[in-house]
Amino acid sequence: MAQKQVSCDCGKVIRKKTDDELVTAVQEHARQVHSMDLKREEVLSMAEVVAD
Ligand SMILES: [Zn+2]
Repeated sequence: MAQKQVSCDCGKVIRKKTDDELVTAVQEHARQVHSMDLKREEVLSMAEVVAD
C-alpha cells in the first residue's frame, strides 16, 4: 500500500498511510518546530507518494 510523505525544509520526513494522518502530523510539526500554521491543502500539495 502506498504511503505519502512530506519532506520538511528542516530535514524532517513525515510519512503516513492516510491523508488525514499526514495532514495532522505535518501541521503539528510545523506548529511546534516552525510556528507555522499550514492548511490541509498546503500539506497535501507538499506530499509525495512513496511505495512501500
Ligand atoms: Zn520542519
